[in-house]
Amino acid sequence: MSEYKSFIHEAIEEDIGPGGRYEGKTVHTRFPPEPNGYLHIGHAKALEIDFGMAEQYGGLCNLRMDDTNPTKEDEEYVEAIKEDIKWLGHDWDDRFYYASSYFDKMYEYAVELIKKGLAYVCQLTPEEMKEHRGDLTHPATSPYRDRPIEESLDLFERMKNGEFEDGAMTLRAKIDLASGNFNMRDPAIYRINHMRHHNTGDKWCIYPMYDFAHPIEDALEGITHSLCSLEFEAHRPLYDWVIENCPVPSKPRQIEFARLGITHTVLSKRKLRNMVETGLVDGWDDPRMPTLCGLRRRGYTPASIHNFHSRNGISKVNAVVDYAFLEYCLREDLNATAKRVMGVVHPVKLIIDNYPEGKTETFTVENNPERPEDGTREVSFSKELWIEEEDFMEVPEKKYFRLFPGNEVRLKSAYVIKCTGCDKDENGKVIAVHAEYEESSRGGNPADGRRIKATIHWVDTKTALDATVRLYDRLFTVEAPDLADCNYLDFINPDSLKVVEGAKVEASLADAKPADRFQFLRLGYFCMDTKDSKPGKLVFNRSVSLKDSYKPAAQA
Ligand code: ATP
Ligand code: MG
Repeated sequence: MSEYKSFIHEAIEEDIGPGGRYEGKTVHTRFPPEPNGYLHIGHAKALEIDFGMAEQYGGLCNLRMDDTNPTKEDEEYVEAIKEDIKWLGHDWDDRFYYASSYFDKMYEYAVELIKKGLAYVCQLTPEEMKEHRGDLTHPATSPYRDRPIEESLDLFERMKNGEFEDGAMTLRAKIDLASGNFNMRDPAIYRINHMRHHNTGDKWCIYPMYDFAHPIEDALEGITHSLCSLEFEAHRPLYDWVIENCPVPSKPRQIEFARLGITHTVLSKRKLRNMVETGLVDGWDDPRMPTLCGLRRRGYTPASIHNFHSRNGISKVNAVVDYAFLEYCLREDLNATAKRVMGVVHPVKLIIDNYPEGKTETFTVENNPERPEDGTREVSFSKELWIEEEDFMEVPEKKYFRLFPGNEVRLKSAYVIKCTGCDKDENGKVIAVHAEYEESSRGGNPADGRRIKATIHWVDTKTALDATVRLYDRLFTVEAPDLADCNYLDFINPDSLKVVEGAKVEASLADAKPADRFQFLRLGYFCMDTKDSKPGKLVFNRSVSLKDSYKPAAQA
């Protein structure tokens, strides 16, 4: 995002510039996740903006757990959220906060509002409140609006002391019952909820509503720019009202940006949690999930996610980005950085009949032709090799240039071979392919310079390691599985995971560590699984295939 200037950049520069509302002040943002699930790629957009703006303007960004709502919180998520943010390369230093630690202050401000005649206790039940909401031509009503200040003070204190049932009454801000913005029609700012809170225990049985709590949290932390997604735009007048009418120590400014949507997935913690709890996926970090821990386990790099977000830019219009663009960003990063290796997912034996029995030689191959500085490694070669089943066809289709009787191919970095036939079992299944090699083509090029159309990869049977390979496809079969009028679970792709046991990989992978990423030649980019891979039982997740299905809009 270095060169590109969004409307948020412009607003910040205006604010800190000469005559601006924060002239001479440090830009201070915050990322406020609700700890009720793991972060997903949409949250990453928000946190890249929050942390990114602070970084770009030499400012600070706080990490704040937005835990004012006691019903949906879980401490296990807090650590996971921290881990994901650190992984993306951001740092909140010692500025880690819980919104719940401001409950005392919020209560105090609420009492102040009542004393100023700007809030009142309303005894309409939630259902009655809906009935009294009014519509575009009729204002809302409340029979309790003009009750004496003393009465509201007394009731609010008794609400706090636990004298009333959930839903019996609320504290409402006294703003404008006729406002065209329904958020301003005397919104509830406190409600009764007899529920234990993970941080404050049983101290409170009344909890502040988001629209009241959030501006206060921002102001208490000295936030200058409170960046949030577009659905809060209509809440901004209320945000400003709270800041204006409570004796807060600073005046933050809210700016909204569009949420990120991606095709073929859902980005809602509730839906993702549901998929985890019903066992449709193997946990929040299932490599098919759009969660940051899922993407990490799949093999995504922080750079790929950062590039994805910065290229999508920041706008005021909600847009849905093609999942293939996320894959494009990963492929691009791994193409530059990943070590190349050879592995065979569906192995069949290749026997080179004219190669000496018992002989083994080694080829020195580059780890990454794009980066000579990554060095070379040795790959062993002998009479019997593993090749991909699909690289042989006894009766070739049209335009099939790989192995078939009489045809020549190049064994990557090794020799040119000519296929001579195959062995089959009683069911007609090919169990071994036969070929002869051309000794003078060592390194892979025929001495006479003739053109060899196809190159295939291989692994020496003498040194190959067994591996489990997981091949992934889209989690959902349609572009927009979470349209309002359908059930996203109806569109789960039954073929989103294929587990292949008995794959064969080259011996150098014995040194691979969990989370190491590789390009398996011709097959795609793979990441060693961080949970299930063990020495002697290698497991690789395919991060992304080599083929690019992404077409920029201009070319589509
Ligand atoms: P979800 O809909 O997944 O439950 P949420 O908004 O309730 O998300 P929060 O934990 O409150 O989850 O989100 C933290 C921050 O991330 C908020 O500022 C929110 O606006 C932002 N955010 C969440 N989803 C997206 C998205 N898809 N694109 C951009 N920002 C998002
Ligand atoms: Mg939220």
